[in-house]
Amino acid sequence: MTQTHTFHALVGGQLSTGSRQMPVINPSSEEVITHCPQATSEEVEHAIRVAREAWPGWRDTPLEQRRRVLHAIADRIEANAEELQRWLTLEQGKPLAGAAVETSQAPAILRYFAEADLSPRTLQDDEQQCAELHRRPLGVVAAIVPWNFPLVMACYKLGPALITGNVCLIKPSPTTPLATLRLGELIADLVPPGVVSILPDGGDIGPLLTGHPDIDKISFTGSTTTGRSVMRAAADNLQRITLELGGNDAAIVLDDVDVDAVAPQLFGLAFVNSGQVCMSIKRLYIQSGIYERMCDALAELARNAKVGDGLDPATQFGPLQNRKQFETVKRMLELAPQHGRIIAGGRAYGPGYFVEPTLIRDIEEGNPVVDEEIFGPVRSLLRFDDVEDAIRRANRSPYGLGSSVWTRDSARGKQIACRLESGSAWVNQHFAMAPHIPFGGHKQSGIGVEFGEAGLNEYTAIQSVVVAK
Ligand code: NAD
Repeated sequence: MTQTHTFHALVGGQLSTGSRQMPVINPSSEEVITHCPQATSEEVEHAIRVAREAWPGWRDTPLEQRRRVLHAIADRIEANAEELQRWLTLEQGKPLAGAAVETSQAPAILRYFAEADLSPRTLQDDEQQCAELHRRPLGVVAAIVPWNFPLVMACYKLGPALITGNVCLIKPSPTTPLATLRLGELIADLVPPGVVSILPDGGDIGPLLTGHPDIDKISFTGSTTTGRSVMRAAADNLQRITLELGGNDAAIVLDDVDVDAVAPQLFGLAFVNSGQVCMSIKRLYIQSGIYERMCDALAELARNAKVGDGLDPATQFGPLQNRKQFETVKRMLELAPQHGRIIAGGRAYGPGYFVEPTLIRDIEEGNPVVDEEIFGPVRSLLRFDDVEDAIRRANRSPYGLGSSVWTRDSARGKQIACRLESGSAWVNQHFAMAPHIPFGGHKQSGIGVEFGEAGLNEYTAIQSVVVAK
């Protein structure tokens, strides 16, 4: 594999270099990594048409065969993991170790869904009638993916879509198409034509998919603002939607914790992927008794963090993924001193889109630095005395994706966690995801869930089959 690899898009069952190309930028250097196909609106229409034609055949393919295809896709990812990791690091900026997490989780997700139980449930079986609940596929699914975890998030959607008998169009983010295109190349011979297409997007494809009369379901992960547009567009044809949106996760840290043991965990969970994680810790509520010590411990970790090119094995934190995000986070950094005191980091620099892990203490709610989702390595350290006050403040957000409570008393932690308004609530951990555990957003963090049986069901419609006796 070299950076001169010629990328092909899997569209409508064919691998093609496409009729036009777009550059892909390395966020560590701002240099062009390579050029790749950019799907035109005609190619998108073609992919939708072929997907529609492919659907009945895939829907009626025996389940055992669909299971085999998903395992085969997982095998291909594993066999080509090292190459995929390199493309992920080059295009996304994350350290190779972070890319390796994607290439190990993606097959694990696919294998989990490959083994899904799709048998009908008997609701009634007596002398009057036999009633069963069946789950039917929806048809053509469009998977719209953000740039923070390009490969694994595509697989979050591909696995449940295919196993339930849907066909799938994957649209990567315009700034991170490479690993997803490579996935298409690697699996082209495993799936029947039209069952999976990859649509490399120059920035105009999303709206072509949402509201399209021949697309039955949109599985969208991205910002809350775009999620609203998706929902509006989907209304026209009553497209089914799953929306995994933004988050401003709170962690409530009680004063009984061992500061030295917990600080590195909080730090890692706040800054993983350079803070570009929907479910990373974004607001840290720290009880007064340990506030000073915790601020100092976290600041020490931030000052010692190694920021750099993800290809350098010493790098812990890569750059922000794209210029737009870099500029957004820079604006937050400029605002921060008006609202609190920066005790570590604070610098944004180039070439590349680098931001030091930044901690702001003595800050409160009521300003954008705390109240808005910062999708980058800038985190607020908020002080509280009374746990009730912390719960109230943590819940005072339009978002409700994840939250956590940190305490030696896990029973008490669980009681507090159950009162937090979020789709996932953890005790002494955060962002702990597993394929069998559903995750999704409350409030403006989303609609529906991914993972688990509930996530699988999002790709199906219920059919009640009732036979009179
Ligand atoms: P974004 O909303 O800008 O883009 C997400 C995807 O939507 C991209 O593929 C983009 O091309 C596409 N898109 C843009 N406009 C569209 C439109 N009008 N119609 C349809 N699609 C359109 O988000 P982003 O900047 O790529 O990602 C960061 C955001 O994603 C953050 O807010 C983060 O919290 C959120 N996110 C949420 C989850 C979750 O599971 N809840 C996971 C990862 C990221």
